[in-house]
Amino acid sequence: MQAVVKEKPAPGLKVATVPKPTAGPGEVLIAVRHAGVCGTDLHIADWDDWAQHRIRPPVVVGHEFAGEIAAMGDGVEEVADLKVGQLVTAEGHIVCGHCLQCRTGNGHICRNTRIIGVDRDGAFAQYITMPVTNVLPLNGIPTTVGAIMDPIGNAFHTVLTADIPGSTVFIAGCGPIGCFAVGIARAAGAAKVIASDVNARRLELAARMGAHLTINAAEDDVVRTVLQATGGEGADVVCEMSGVPSALHQAFAAVRMGGRVQLLGIPKDAVPVDFASEIIFKGITVYGVIGRKMYETWDHMRRYLTSGLLDPRPVITHQFPLARIDEALAAIRSGGAGKIILEIA
Ligand SMILES: [Zn+2]
Ligand SMILES: [Zn+2]
Repeated sequence: MQAVVKEKPAPGLKVATVPKPTAGPGEVLIAVRHAGVCGTDLHIADWDDWAQHRIRPPVVVGHEFAGEIAAMGDGVEEVADLKVGQLVTAEGHIVCGHCLQCRTGNGHICRNTRIIGVDRDGAFAQYITMPVTNVLPLNGIPTTVGAIMDPIGNAFHTVLTADIPGSTVFIAGCGPIGCFAVGIARAAGAAKVIASDVNARRLELAARMGAHLTINAAEDDVVRTVLQATGGEGADVVCEMSGVPSALHQAFAAVRMGGRVQLLGIPKDAVPVDFASEIIFKGITVYGVIGRKMYETWDHMRRYLTSGLLDPRPVITHQFPLARIDEALAAIRSGGAGKIILEIA
């Protein structure tokens, strides 16, 4: 089968022919139709510091996908209501099921997590095998959207673990996940959604997803604008989606006393924090977002998507066939792209 492979411990990705996998016991073989391209794939292609420490080539990359069940391994039919031909997506974090976190319903922070397309073969391929526990029927959601339920799920996890109805919400960073978060906050009943970024194209996407107010952080004073828009109080909930140090400090400055800061963006290096003034004396709660809650986030997300509460499609700006992965990565590098999808079948 055709796949995008990290072949060697060096920069670059290669479109190659690799053996088609088979479904082992408890596994499902999925024919991939669409896959989402994300910053993680760019890190692997560029072979940055993180990739050098994490990736053990050769590995098929890609972790966001949806497709059709092609075969089921032994024992699957007994435990799951799945059938060949069904359209599905999957949680790409494969967790151990027996650590303290898994056993207390917190699989998203399993200490033994293995990620498809990172620690084992991934989804930029005609076929992928997944443990049946990770497979989720799309229930009518198109595979273009199913392919990006991983990052949409990050946004759901970020937004819905805060108290949103009637709240003022400030979203710092309008990459695809930030734009999804804008739409989710609106759908969940936020009274006002404010979004910031340094890129005008991304701010347009945030506005299309329902932001009441967008702030160009390269031109305007972000904190002052958020304070003005919230009657001088600051936002009830701030979602930091960029990991950029200046935006992190703006997040803490723009949250109201007693508010909540949700941290999803990952800073490249250590960022100094003034714990006294930024956190303690403001009495705020800070929450670190990893992956998607298994499977609470997925259930919420499917209901928002199937009911029409959220339409994430405006955020999809590019589609490429699998073989044009280099163009997909270039579009991410350009900075102005929304979500990028590979067409596989
Ligand atoms: Zn991703
Ligand atoms: Zn575990």
